[in-house]
Amino acid sequence: MIIFGTRNKFLTAFNTEQTCGHCNTGKLNLAYTISYFHIFWIPMFPFGKKGMTQCPHCKQILNAYELAPESRNYINAQKSNVKTPLTYFAGLILIGALILFVVVVNMLK
Ligand SMILES: [Zn+2]
Repeated sequence: MIIFGTRNKFLTAFNTEQTCGHCNTGKLNLAYTISYFHIFWIPMFPFGKKGMTQCPHCKQILNAYELAPESRNYINAQKSNVKTPLTYFAGLILIGALILFVVVVNMLK
């Protein structure tokens, strides 16, 4: 039984105006995944966002490091627009709330 580790989840995707460098036909779709550390399947904190492109015509998927420098720069520039949902901090928020609860209870004694 795995009680802690890392997982990857799909975050978001959107269309771009960039054409596929492989088939020169399709407009590339840009997708982002997030990596996070979990304990008992509760996300503790995210540690990496990765961008990748997929061509709707030839279905070629390229990670950011496989792309031409200008496409890689575009992906990295868009990365800051993709917000990390607060749910990926659920474990830290839970621990913070627990510590706050213990502190408040001890102050009231
Ligand atoms: Zn293509």
